[in-house]
Amino acid sequence: MGLPHVLAVPYPAQGHVIPLMELCHCLVDHGFKVTFINTEFNHKRVLTALSAGSTMKQITLVTVPDGLGPEEDRNDLARLTEAFMNVMPRCLEELIEKSRETEDPMTCMLVDYSMGWALEVGRKKSLQSAAFWPAAAQMLATLLSVPELVSRGVIDGDGSPISEHETFQLGPGMPFINASHFIWNLIGGGRTKEIIFNCILNSNRVIDVAEFIICNSFKEIEEPTFCYNPKILPIGPLLTGLRPSRAVGYFWPEDAACLSWLDEQQQGSVVYVAFGSFTIFDRLQFQEFALGLEATGRPFLWVVRPDLTSDSADAYPDGFKERVGDRGKIVAWAPQQKVLAHPSVACFVSHCGWNSTMEGVRNGKLFLCWPYFADQFLNQSYICDDWKVGLRLTPDESGIVKREQIKSKVEELLPNEEMTARASTLKETAQRNIKEGGASFENLKTFIDAIKAQHSNLKNKLSV
Ligand code: UDP
Repeated sequence: MGLPHVLAVPYPAQGHVIPLMELCHCLVDHGFKVTFINTEFNHKRVLTALSAGSTMKQITLVTVPDGLGPEEDRNDLARLTEAFMNVMPRCLEELIEKSRETEDPMTCMLVDYSMGWALEVGRKKSLQSAAFWPAAAQMLATLLSVPELVSRGVIDGDGSPISEHETFQLGPGMPFINASHFIWNLIGGGRTKEIIFNCILNSNRVIDVAEFIICNSFKEIEEPTFCYNPKILPIGPLLTGLRPSRAVGYFWPEDAACLSWLDEQQQGSVVYVAFGSFTIFDRLQFQEFALGLEATGRPFLWVVRPDLTSDSADAYPDGFKERVGDRGKIVAWAPQQKVLAHPSVACFVSHCGWNSTMEGVRNGKLFLCWPYFADQFLNQSYICDDWKVGLRLTPDESGIVKREQIKSKVEELLPNEEMTARASTLKETAQRNIKEGGASFENLKTFIDAIKAQHSNLKNKLSV
């Protein structure tokens, strides 16, 4: 038996694949071999998007079907979840069995919490396992506490909030959460909600199989949560996207030209705008937002994914592109982690996905928050109320964030020295955590040492 061999199972979405891929790069640096699962659909996208010269050193990409037909909508999370549960468990079992015919059999599984069913496969096949959570530890602690929330009368047995408007606090010092923002309550009613809620309940049922629960966060930003649930170990912020020549796992090809455009801008001048991989804008809001960016008078870099709005290509207000000229750079997908590390970027207009949040924090950036979905509302309150490094963009009575607000919030945010000082302190704290001796560094080491020891035990057993 050669190298310790990990089977990595991400949830098939961009915000899950990127951080797990980074964690796998860390494992490779510590002498592991990794088999990384992608659905066939996502695998094609990852390969197409791979930038020239980037590698997957010691990571083998393997595909499994997701159970959906070629034309079905992969953004329909309930349908996707239901479909892959039907086909993936058997595929994983076969992969594990096949690896036993090689000199590096799989000994450990690294499973996204949202793919909890895979922990059951691991148990069946006697693999050691760890669960990975790519969002705020607070959100995981809350999901793991669903039975408690039911008994406290926060949600009913189907996960619906008892009161739409009330917030609750899981434990002392923890942020307030609105149960109507739980993913299953936002995704649609009936069967759709049931599938997602059951998926969470199932993950909770099997989570004890995992010897470790690790997450991309760090101690100081969620301290009350780590006290509330000490089983959750922070190992972040993961340095996604900052390894020269290692693949990030993008689903869209990055437009690296925006980095040379940033080189030409003044330090601390650019408004960077990106809403992750999933957010959708209606055409009216898209146009209003464009006019807001124009009104700031500042240089901006704006990620407009091809599916950000209907007809992204011609949805811009009349004459917008001509008027902003070279002051505005628009790309379909940015190498975001490098963008946020660039000194020209002043602030980040973000949907507050957790990866984006961590990437902004670790680079000491200020945020304008525009959450779209689920845990992004929690992340917004962390940014604005706890860490105090950002401001909210708030829709008016008609549900629209108007151009005047975008302009005035950018003007309010950028000269704010207190926020800037707090953002720099957060950046330093983040960096201290992942250096030798830092809490996240030590947690990662504990995790890695444990799976290596297990590997040696198994090796000894097999050679007796
Ligand atoms: N991202 C990127 N380029 C872009 C937009 C997003 O590299 O133009 C990356 C971003 O850095 C983050 C991920 O995509 O790592 C999005 O994850 P997040 O949790 O922020 O949001 P989600 O897409 O899950 O809503």
